[in-house]
Amino acid sequence: MFQTRMAGVFDIDLESEDVSNDEDEVFDFTVTETEPVQIEEVELTSASVNRNSERVGPDCFELLTVLGKGGYGKVFQVRKVQGPQTGKIFAMKVLKKAKIVCNAKDTAHTRAEREILETVGHPFIVELWYAFQTGGKLYLILECLSGGELFMQLEKEGIFMEDTACFYLGEITLALGHLHSNGIIYRDLKPENIMLNHQGHIKLTDFGLCKESIHDGAVTHTFCGTIEYMAPEILTRSGHNRSVDWWSLGALMYDMMTGSPPFTAENRKKTIDRILKCKLNLPPYLTADARDMIKKLLRKSPSQRLGSSGADCEDIKKHPFFRHVNWDDLLNKCIEPPYKPTLQSDEDVSQFDTRFTRQTPVDSPDDTTLSGSADHAFAGFTYVAPSVLESLKEGFSFEPRPRPVRRHTSSPHTPISPLKFSLTEPFKTSMDVESDSSIQSPPPPPPPSKDNCATQPIRTPGRNKNKGHRSGR
Ligand code: ATP
Ligand code: MG
Repeated sequence: MFQTRMAGVFDIDLESEDVSNDEDEVFDFTVTETEPVQIEEVELTSASVNRNSERVGPDCFELLTVLGKGGYGKVFQVRKVQGPQTGKIFAMKVLKKAKIVCNAKDTAHTRAEREILETVGHPFIVELWYAFQTGGKLYLILECLSGGELFMQLEKEGIFMEDTACFYLGEITLALGHLHSNGIIYRDLKPENIMLNHQGHIKLTDFGLCKESIHDGAVTHTFCGTIEYMAPEILTRSGHNRSVDWWSLGALMYDMMTGSPPFTAENRKKTIDRILKCKLNLPPYLTADARDMIKKLLRKSPSQRLGSSGADCEDIKKHPFFRHVNWDDLLNKCIEPPYKPTLQSDEDVSQFDTRFTRQTPVDSPDDTTLSGSADHAFAGFTYVAPSVLESLKEGFSFEPRPRPVRRHTSSPHTPISPLKFSLTEPFKTSMDVESDSSIQSPPPPPPPSKDNCATQPIRTPGRNKNKGHRSGR
């Protein structure tokens, strides 16, 4: 008979009649009451009880470089220096709780980001490995997307050839379709939230603005997102559903192929005005298929928009613009990306803005302790990816590697090869562009006309980086 004391010390109390004297027993295990009993002392801690879990905190990561800055904190490139995956490079997004709790909506966004990333696993969505918190900060440990922002690539090229755009738009369509099928609206589709991994495949990041649990027919009234790619129904606060993401896809497609989003102006108010009221201006150098798809995605009436039916992304996948795409191959990453980032090592940060990478990486100490009720908002934030737990069970760990020499200069880029294969007025559906006859087509390169809503197809460095255009935060 075994008895265990609650004190955390296992005390074996063997009574003589309970011990078998069967001669056939393989083990001779005769114990008399007078024999000294072996006592093993085990301290009951979360580590000893949950042997297969890992305690992850800021100390497990060495800061290497600053990769970017967001509304609530910084994103660093880090190396894991303890436990499983020691030596592996990650991106660490650090958010200050004090900034987030000022606004209940922002708290919800941050929780949503953590929850969505845990839920959705997709080849074209950034992978969450760990999440943890200290008194004052929240930490998301993400796969490091060393290819940088698609924005950087788009800025370098000015515009993409149609087959290049087709590749990126196809991968993005699959990612958005997957989110929608999980009841999630992305809402923040824009070039700087679309990143490339080391192979050049798309990865959607930044889930702080997503809305969770929005299924067919349901509509949400939260105002947030980024102006230039934002659907009219978000701007008019008339409620929106997942078709806002297809509008943004259309705006992104237009941007990729012409050099700027479809509706822009010198300030935010005028930009909103143009999104709500102006006709779409399509340059004539676009192919008929591209023109048709842009027009159908940028229909101001959400119910008329391509992708708004129950079939969602399936309608978009069937559009002739994508007729050469083998969707299974695309999903399985069997199609070679048009641009492969030139990287010297997994620590290479040459694809990131030097405004960030030149900074000294410091995660400033933040000993702020929030009140119990405020901190309660972040209960359950901690997360370890199931694959890490699996590897712990198997005793598997990445070997630490010697630190490679970091490159300090920007690398030349592989040239892009052809693809081998707030206004208050409600929007008016009559403004939709339904036929070519309603579209003004300036000759290329089109200078902006005073009467014309479209802007010049010239990408100016840093144009979209203006965080002042972000809204609702
Ligand atoms: P939020 O809206 O939550 O404040 P944000 O736009 O401020 O978001 P992110 O977009 O998540 O923050 O990150 C800011 C920048 O950090 C990105 O634009 C990108 O350059 C870089 N970054 C983000 N995630 C990663 C990642 N997984 N790998 C590499 N770089 C990343
Ligand atoms: Mg972002």
